[in-house]
Amino acid sequence: MDPESDRAQMKWFQSLILIVLLTCSCTQKEPERPNIIVFLVDDMGWQDTSVPFWDKPTPFNSLYQTPNMERLAAEGMKFTQAYATSVCSPTRISLMTGMNAAHHRVTNWTLRKDQQPVADDDLLAQPAWNVNGMSPVPGIANTIHATPLPQLLHDTGYFTIHSGKAHLGAIGTPAANPLNLGFDINIAGHAAGAPGSYYGTEAFGNNDPNRSVWAVPGLEKYHGKDIYLSEAITLEAVEAMQKAIDQDQPFFLYMAHYAVHTPIQGDDRFVQKYLDQGMLPTEARYASMVEGMDKSLGDIMTFLDARGIDENTVILFMSDNGGLSAVARGGEKHTHNKPLSSGKGSAHEGGIREPMIVKWPGKTMPNSSAEDYLIIEDFFPSILEMASVKDYQTVQPVDGQSFVSILTGTERASYKERPLFWHYPNRWGPKGPGIASTSTVRLGDWKLIYYHADRSFELFNLTEDIGETTNRAVDEPEKLKELASVLTQHLKEVQAQMPTDKATGKLVEYPLEILQP
Ligand code: CA
Repeated sequence: MDPESDRAQMKWFQSLILIVLLTCSCTQKEPERPNIIVFLVDDMGWQDTSVPFWDKPTPFNSLYQTPNMERLAAEGMKFTQAYATSVCSPTRISLMTGMNAAHHRVTNWTLRKDQQPVADDDLLAQPAWNVNGMSPVPGIANTIHATPLPQLLHDTGYFTIHSGKAHLGAIGTPAANPLNLGFDINIAGHAAGAPGSYYGTEAFGNNDPNRSVWAVPGLEKYHGKDIYLSEAITLEAVEAMQKAIDQDQPFFLYMAHYAVHTPIQGDDRFVQKYLDQGMLPTEARYASMVEGMDKSLGDIMTFLDARGIDENTVILFMSDNGGLSAVARGGEKHTHNKPLSSGKGSAHEGGIREPMIVKWPGKTMPNSSAEDYLIIEDFFPSILEMASVKDYQTVQPVDGQSFVSILTGTERASYKERPLFWHYPNRWGPKGPGIASTSTVRLGDWKLIYYHADRSFELFNLTEDIGETTNRAVDEPEKLKELASVLTQHLKEVQAQMPTDKATGKLVEYPLEILQP
């Protein structure tokens, strides 16, 4: 065969291949999977921001300065009734497993293996809850064995990045290390739920041998430098996202800030202007931590813009529990959550209602707001739906419901029809309204809290009384019974663990058993 016809044949063959490829790409190409960022703040209250989450601005919205949250809200959808649990670990494990806290039984915060963080009080003995957190493998005592969210994303092609606070498994258990949960990269995450120090000059707590349990792991290159922890983990997260881009992989970034949890250490980049405004020193330090966290959000959004991937990246902003309004160990009050009642550790709204914003370009309406209520375990199926992960298998039953239809505006039926549940058969420590061993249900406008110690009830109409000032349990007996029945059914279904009454040695009754003995 002469070279000319050889070339012609080759050309024809190349054209054929091209046609086949083009046909395939037209008919079989999957929609491009979005990058997904969960931006989880620690202990941030519903009002600790310049974005108003109530139906009117509050004085706190003018005190705090969070311009990047404002930018995110302008580009996405704000949720005014988004819920987490009242303390760290239960929320984080619900997010990672899709399970309700009563179901996964990590009902309090975790740290040391096989140890409760807070001892029982005189009235109630806490049940044998999962003090070691979650576990990606079976056979680890006092854990919930579950298929973690990042594992499912990793297994379907996502580059998975953990940056910041993990707090998912006790020291010495597999889930203490995010790399065992399906994360490709772990930046600064381990068993502890707070940093020894936010300051690079203090090596993020690694210089204090007496408090080594709180020392932030990794980040050695920043030790001795004048850098705040929120900034360091953001720089590292940006580098990890760039790696995913270089590898041409969609990424899942779990940007779990240590801020704004205690210790309340001022972020020097921002603290002076709050002092100049006349804020008390502790409040000013706290406000500076909030703004430092907000800068991280802005830096990430700017990075996405610069790389041209902002239109294909979902950002979910959330906090893991309410602002710490109780004063602990002689400290000063640094946040309030008003008009909500109480704060972290409480079944009242101040403990569980969170600032949540979702930006999903092309799906969420810019500058929109949703009244629909939802709870933290809903993130699990929602994120998998966003990532087009279908027909996935988990060892755990998933309680959460996807909120994608709320984001896209295609369905708004769940609000007022679906009950949400909280279960905290534990002791937290600091005192305040609603801070107790409790089980709680929200249904429509109403919320019922069942107090285990004295079997009393609080019934609130949240639409009329967002501050939970008026207990309606006596004058609304039918509503009381209805909610007690819904709550009891859930507690039975998931075999919720009740505390033991020390006086009788018996388990505390389910709420309906108190009303209908
Ligand atoms: Ca927290």
